[in-house]
Amino acid sequence: KMDNKAILSNGVEMPWVGLGVFQVENGQIVVDSVKAAIRNGYRSIDTAAIYGNEEGVGQGIKEGIAETGIKREDLFITSKVWNSDLGYESTLNAFEDSLKKLGLDYLDLYLIHWPVEGKFVDSWKALEKLYKDGRVKAIGMSNFQVHHLQEVMKNAEIMPMINQVELHPRLNHKDLRKFLKENSIQVEAWAPLMQGGLFDNEELLSIAKKYNKSIAQVVLRWHLQNEVVIIPKSIKEHRIVENADLFDFELSNEDMKKINSLNQNHRVGPDPDNFD
Ligand code: NAD
Repeated sequence: KMDNKAILSNGVEMPWVGLGVFQVENGQIVVDSVKAAIRNGYRSIDTAAIYGNEEGVGQGIKEGIAETGIKREDLFITSKVWNSDLGYESTLNAFEDSLKKLGLDYLDLYLIHWPVEGKFVDSWKALEKLYKDGRVKAIGMSNFQVHHLQEVMKNAEIMPMINQVELHPRLNHKDLRKFLKENSIQVEAWAPLMQGGLFDNEELLSIAKKYNKSIAQVVLRWHLQNEVVIIPKSIKEHRIVENADLFDFELSNEDMKKINSLNQNHRVGPDPDNFD
């Protein structure tokens, strides 16, 4: 069901499905997208300082709460510290800035956006402080490979609860997911729909027809059956609804295997071992 939640290693509950707002313009578009999501049962929103839309997301949250009568505590809000703000003090400052733009007094999840060498361990110490001070309910990273995680964990007091990575049928990260499971780190997929790059795939089309679902729904369901948290992005209300309508069917083992076999270790985004 839509209100099913993943339980993070610290006991915090995180919705399996959230709305992503990458490349959604700050202003009415992002306000309306966030409101459409909340109206249709979403409780989780994924933004980042670098998306430049935290004010609009905050406004959407405010209006969504007013429209539906839910409480702030019912929502799960994620933001991320950008590369240029990595380091201890600058991460603490970036957090306050994001909170202010969002108009919130705490975050549910704060992530280190990319593993900038020589800096991410200091940022992790800042996230640990924010967590211990109760400013954020859970902390983690994004785009970390196993070796980056190992470097953090060697120096950490608090273990990361989430790793948000590019993940979809063309990049299924089998080894990384195994490592995360062994270390009780929840995996979260960005570009769960490969940013739209899967919609003409014949294999997926035939599976979708069989279940009378769309390709988007089949791919998102594949993630859920792999115990992956998803944050598909759309600004269209009918797609926002479609992307959460995932709980009235189940892919067979055979179809799960077929989708697994689409892996080509193909990225649409930057390589975490080689980015600017
Ligand atoms: P996505 O895989 O969610 O794909 C979004 C694209 O698919 C959009 O162009 C949309 O128009 C289309 N789409 C969505 N639903 C559809 C449907 N039902 N039918 C047809 N088309 C549909 O890609 P994304 O936005 O890159 O990733 C999701 C979220 O992950 C982002 O919005 C952002 O919040 C997060 N993200 C994080 C990072 C990171 O480095 N941590 C990087 C990129 C994105």
